[in-house]
Amino acid sequence: MNKTERLTRRQLLGVTVTAAAGLSGAAAFAQAPAGAASFPKLDEKDPTAAALKYVHDAKTVDPKKNPNYKPGQHCANCLQVTGKDGDAWRPCNIFPKKLVAANGWCSVWVHKPGTAV
Ligand code: SF4
Repeated sequence: MNKTERLTRRQLLGVTVTAAAGLSGAAAFAQAPAGAASFPKLDEKDPTAAALKYVHDAKTVDPKKNPNYKPGQHCANCLQVTGKDGDAWRPCNIFPKKLVAANGWCSVWVHKPGTAV
């Protein structure tokens, strides 16, 4: 085994450890924070919500004003939502200690793998 091969094995080990840490972090990220059920609903007029163009009903989003919006996008299929599938109001990593509507949307929506859009 030469030096280059050893380096490659180290790199592979590093990638594996990083990937494992990332997966466990992602799993923790997906969990609702403690006490989430009692969080208040996010107000569309909240300054951060307004800045991110959050609405309770994604069907009201104007695609002309929000070109990154595509029909089918909503909080329930966003990577940032946590809590329980099927709940009408769920925690979101972007709005700590608030609940967002499952049918809501904001401009930082990112597809949650494994969900339909
Ligand atoms: S980040 Fe995702 S889940 Fe949170 S409000 Fe925006 S679209 Fe909804």
